[in-house]
Amino acid sequence: MTHQCSVCGTQHDEWPPGYGFSQPDAVWELSPEQKNGRVMETPDFCCIDGTRCFVLANFQIPVSGLESPWILSLWAEISQSDFSQFLGSYAVAVSGSVDGILCNHLGAFPGAVGSSVKVHLGSSKARPALEATDLNSDIGRAQHTGLSQQELHDKLAAMGYDWES
Ligand SMILES: [Zn+2]
Repeated sequence: MTHQCSVCGTQHDEWPPGYGFSQPDAVWELSPEQKNGRVMETPDFCCIDGTRCFVLANFQIPVSGLESPWILSLWAEISQSDFSQFLGSYAVAVSGSVDGILCNHLGAFPGAVGSSVKVHLGSSKARPALEATDLNSDIGRAQHTGLSQQELHDKLAAMGYDWES
């Protein structure tokens, strides 16, 4: 479904556009040699040395005037024990939330990396959801107050998103 944009006047496909990361920065920064035997990776979760554990989760930011939120797929680091519990119940519905830390550097939100979140585990069919708990961080404020459509354009531009192509 295309969206006739009131900000830039163009027709956008899939708006707001999804944006995400395939790995936490800590894994991305490792060379293949450094990774060798140390990293357990799947598209949805991963671990370094069995001790630093990460899950991929959706971070939703409301945008004024749009029905769909802007969804960022970000990695959160959670404790080893929470991760074990997450894996153990992965096949069944998981309820509750655990504490995590955002692990991706975002050009549009310099304060995101290292900020605290609640990771709502959800079910195995639904990617976990992130709730910012650090309301002084730029990304925490954005989640709680929402963005204007102009701000969404500015954030996408800051992340190098090319919606003209
Ligand atoms: Zn636009």
